[in-house]
Amino acid sequence: MTIIDGKQISASLKEEVAAQVATFPEKYGRVPHLTVIRVGEDPASVVYVRNKAKACEACGIRNTTIVLDESTPEETLLEKIRTLNADDGVDGILVQLPLPAHISEAKVIETIAKEKDVDGFHPLNVAGLWQKTPHLAPCTPSGIMKLLAAAGVDPKGKRAVVIGRSNIVGLPVGKMLLDANATVTFCHTRTINLAEVTREADILVVAAGRAKMVGADMVKDGAVVIDVGMDRDPQTGKLCGDVDFEAVAPKTSAITPVPGGVGPLTIACLMENTVECFLRRHNN
Ligand code: NAD
Repeated sequence: MTIIDGKQISASLKEEVAAQVATFPEKYGRVPHLTVIRVGEDPASVVYVRNKAKACEACGIRNTTIVLDESTPEETLLEKIRTLNADDGVDGILVQLPLPAHISEAKVIETIAKEKDVDGFHPLNVAGLWQKTPHLAPCTPSGIMKLLAAAGVDPKGKRAVVIGRSNIVGLPVGKMLLDANATVTFCHTRTINLAEVTREADILVVAAGRAKMVGADMVKDGAVVIDVGMDRDPQTGKLCGDVDFEAVAPKTSAITPVPGGVGPLTIACLMENTVECFLRRHNN
């Protein structure tokens, strides 16, 4: 059984990005610039935004973090985004989710120019993924595909089961697995006899947001298990995944830990998307 080391895989991807970015000042006269907006003080968002800034620093990417007050009106945020859309010195724009209840996430996502949408959430980027036309891909699903590749797992011909059908993780990772020629099944809260379905999986991706919901009885011997969950263990309060790691790991051929699995890859893919936005603008 292999524990897929997301931290190490992410570190080497970031090194590759840094080496590429180091060539940009001479070629293009500047480095890529990612602007991250945080609205309010949600503790998880504070940490995520800080980690994004740190990753930019490691990759030589310029980062601006804009912090707006919790009570910022929706229109003020949309106007800020429009200004950044028009700013030639900004390559990528990311608004950290979740947003306060009075701000429409859909409106925010639609307002970010699709060419600067490093999260890959804009409807036209989503359409590009489903229609196989050029697009910016969402970071967590891309990260999962990179983890599988790094672990030497080719989805072709395999049975992949995805628990979760969110726009951010479940649906796009299912589509990416399909495009990599897996046979894909989506599970969700209305799935009857979940364990019966998950036991069929050669590749099981769990993105439900339910601490330790996947036990050993739900996993086939030798399966590859990707745990996307970022939950709190109700007993210890510690960060844990959707998979009961201790119980499940011995049955698998490869598994991602939480923390240190999918999370670090999400940020590495954000760095790659920022470079992609920069290069598309300079090569157009
Ligand atoms: P979400 O709440 O939008 O979607 C959860 C999905 O899981 C839903 O489709 C729901 O039908 C399904 N689900 C929930 N409980 C279920 C159950 N008991 N049985 C079957 N299906 C069930 O969540 P999301 O945004 O997709 O995130 C999922 C998890 O992944 C969360 O823990 C989140 O924190 C984590 N996450 C991690 C990263 C990362 O970078 N590591 C990024 C995004 C999300």
